[in-house]
Amino acid sequence: MHRYQLYIDGQWVGPVTGVWFETVEPFSGNAWALIPRAAKDDVDRAVQAAHRALAGPWSTISASQRGMLLHRLGELIDANAEQLADVEMRDNGKLKSEVLGQVRYVPRYYYYYAGLADKIQGDVIPIDKPGVFNYTLYEPVGVVATITPWNSSLLLTAWKLAPALAAGNTVVCKPSEFTSASLLEFAKLVEQAGFPPGVVNVVTGYGQEAGEPLVSHPLVARVAFTGGEEGGRRVNEIAARSFKRVSLELGGKSPNIVFDDADLDKAANGVITGIFSAGGQTCMAGSRLLVQEGIYDKFVEKLVQITRSARIGDPASAETQIGPITTRPQFEKILSYIEIAKAEGARCVAGGRALSGPGYGQGQIIEPTIFVDVKNSMRIAQEEVFGPVLAVLRFKDEEDAIRIGNDISYGLAAGVWTRSLRRAMLMTKKLKAGTVWVNNYRSTSYTTPFGGYKRSGLGREGGMEAIKEYLQVKSVWISSDLDMPNPFVRRY
Ligand code: NAD
Repeated sequence: MHRYQLYIDGQWVGPVTGVWFETVEPFSGNAWALIPRAAKDDVDRAVQAAHRALAGPWSTISASQRGMLLHRLGELIDANAEQLADVEMRDNGKLKSEVLGQVRYVPRYYYYYAGLADKIQGDVIPIDKPGVFNYTLYEPVGVVATITPWNSSLLLTAWKLAPALAAGNTVVCKPSEFTSASLLEFAKLVEQAGFPPGVVNVVTGYGQEAGEPLVSHPLVARVAFTGGEEGGRRVNEIAARSFKRVSLELGGKSPNIVFDDADLDKAANGVITGIFSAGGQTCMAGSRLLVQEGIYDKFVEKLVQITRSARIGDPASAETQIGPITTRPQFEKILSYIEIAKAEGARCVAGGRALSGPGYGQGQIIEPTIFVDVKNSMRIAQEEVFGPVLAVLRFKDEEDAIRIGNDISYGLAAGVWTRSLRRAMLMTKKLKAGTVWVNNYRSTSYTTPFGGYKRSGLGREGGMEAIKEYLQVKSVWISSDLDMPNPFVRRY
């Protein structure tokens, strides 16, 4: 079995603990590689390396050269996309076709932020005092820690790493304990691209053993976290003790709202993509479907028909549309939510079972599932399942859709399906979410910000907004007026 090493200070090293753990293919259940179980001392080595690197060659290269390095890294990811996608798929069990598409898109984040690296500029500020010249300088914050979940390791790391590096920071990345291999493979490309040692480091291991020491490390200036609410809260609490800047991309229970004037065939496909692609294991899943009362039955029928046609099985096969659930705890959590929904009185009209037997690997697969007659007060309408489970609610009119759509503690995303421009504009204004899609769902791009309202998180990733998250601003005053008539009295 392949035994991975940590990537620290440009070196491949074993963990100080001397312990490795197995990483497992979700479909077959086979362990296929050994991942270093890093702990406090390894994290300290990585952070010290990143801190040293801040004052090393990295600090002397120009912003344009930083951009060129990022561009080179993007090209290397592109050239190695097949192999990276294979490794990521082995770990997270998502469809090969989806993972490959995603990995091929990752270089664009590096190209985009490569282009921004030498466009970080301050302002000359007119000041209300004579004889002074004032301007702002944007500077890197220092050592950045990135902590990512298991669903899209390379993509979610790129959302953080690309702007952090473009801004001139150094970084320690900690992937999920369930999906560490692809980031360790990626680190080889960082090395090949020619980044100075210590600028990017990868430590692997568990949240409490490796993640917490990283967040609490005194030399870490900023933490970029994507994950669940519990981990996010803990990270935020630890970071607050030393006033570290934090961004949190957390969960969601996003409303996808279908009006009776929508193109129902397109809307049905959009709803299916919103909930069942990636097996529902995405933060932005449109897991709370709101359908206008006049079309409710007809629309649900369409969804059930499409859902029943899903080809379920091996994620490596190009034919497969629904693959396994990535982790055993998540698989069990989803099944428990199916039971909760039934007990609450929701009616299951598609799926609802785990699948085992020939063609289903070790049996960590759940049928795409639809619950109807869902009330917004039910747990299945309010809590993130993070799996292929759709809760369908009914609404009367625009006001009702806005009320139900916003009656939730999350605010990551929302979808609206309508042919009316007036209605689209009203809904996009009224829905409390960081992203609103009209007549599409799950679109993302490196050019536009992504992040949550309410309990879905803090800060933004993507677009020009994101680079500011990794910079701090300095106000510089230069005086040409040396006259100080009374040094004991401050002049205003
Ligand atoms: P998780 O919170 O369990 O783990 C995420 C990462 O945090 C892992 O690397 C883990 O090791 C680390 N971690 C856990 N506890 C920690 C602690 N106390 N200190 C430091 N690090 C810690 O999340 P998960 O189960 O891997 O992922 C699923 C969750 O991620 C879902 O809730 C989902 O909505 C969310 N998610 C959000 C987005 C987004 O962009 N908003 C994207 C993908 C996933």
